[in-house]
Amino acid sequence: MSKKKSWIVRPPEWIRWFFPDALWREKTSKKCVFLTFDDGPIPGVTPWVMEQLEKYDAKGTFFCVGDNVRKYPGVFQLLQQSDCQVGNHGYQHTPGHQLGKKAFLKDIDTCLGFTGSVKWYRPPHGIIFPWWIPAIRRKGLKVVLWDVLSCDYDRSLTPRQVIENVLENIRPGSVIVFHDSLKAWPNLKIALPAVLTWIKNNGYTTELLTSINQNKRTL
Ligand SMILES: [Zn+2]
Repeated sequence: MSKKKSWIVRPPEWIRWFFPDALWREKTSKKCVFLTFDDGPIPGVTPWVMEQLEKYDAKGTFFCVGDNVRKYPGVFQLLQQSDCQVGNHGYQHTPGHQLGKKAFLKDIDTCLGFTGSVKWYRPPHGIIFPWWIPAIRRKGLKVVLWDVLSCDYDRSLTPRQVIENVLENIRPGSVIVFHDSLKAWPNLKIALPAVLTWIKNNGYTTELLTSINQNKRTL
């Protein structure tokens, strides 16, 4: 029995319509995808991900947790010195509905204090009220959700199932989520090289989120 939850792995269009201001994917026929990594920076894991990207000539955007940037400034500095891109994933990684709007927006600001100015925001746990998005946009941040969630953090999944989550759903313009976290590590260490190999062998390229044409609909 598969434990995969396909509606989380690839959110259906009707869910995306509730979040028209968020980025889910670039609507394109170009074989290009956007790799994203949440929850770092973490010693060991984040530098390993960066090495893999370099090895496969791939690009990635790292949605950093502010508290991890505070704890591991050296790892964050490596990210900043690389070709990778940094995004905001909140300071405490607490979902917004647990914080309330005021504390939630403050949490984003606290994270910005550690990451410096960035353009992209992904809500912790992927949870955001659509009506809070305008306040985030006013901070100059674009909300990024996903087209394909690997579920690499789910310890009940095998690396094979994580790879299938990605390869059964990848398509031109996909924003794909992995996690540079200790929780995801047992799956990530096997799934990421497999996915990067597939990308290379199937004529896909990877790009940074900044290359997305903002004028196109991104559902
Ligand atoms: Zn996260």
